[in-house]
Amino acid sequence: MSDPLKDMYRDIIMEHYRYPRGHKEIIDPDLINGGQNPACGDEIEVKVKMDGDKVGDVSVDCVGCAISVASGSMLAEVVEGKTIEEIKKISAVVKALLKGEEITEDMELGDLEALKGVRNFPVRVKCALLSWTTLVDAIEAKEMKTTAEMSTTEHL
Ligand code: ZN
Repeated sequence: MSDPLKDMYRDIIMEHYRYPRGHKEIIDPDLINGGQNPACGDEIEVKVKMDGDKVGDVSVDCVGCAISVASGSMLAEVVEGKTIEEIKKISAVVKALLKGEEITEDMELGDLEALKGVRNFPVRVKCALLSWTTLVDAIEAKEMKTTAEMSTTEHL
């Protein structure tokens, strides 16, 4: 039996897997973080160079299964030109999408829609989330550092 919608999702994922976006070198990144999904053996490194308050350039280097690589490639495509707040929102939408939760955010999903197909395979949800959690962790670590630095200055 063939499900045309599922085939479409699979095609999008395989296309990103074969030709992943964001394969580049970024000099002096503002955000850098590595992530692993030991259950599947996926490994990723995400780097972001900001341009003002927006993402100017992003590199994603993922070695792993088709889903982790495709999701990282989609991330590279989607976050360019976005602000940190927008990235947090998108990442929350991706999480909701993968968990089958209702999406309240009004957002153009584009290829991310294909990740919907992954929710039927709970063990692969972590693969699809790897790039997003790696990037959001980097953002949160940087924000905590900035807050800490700011409060240190205040006490001086
Ligand atoms: Zn995987």
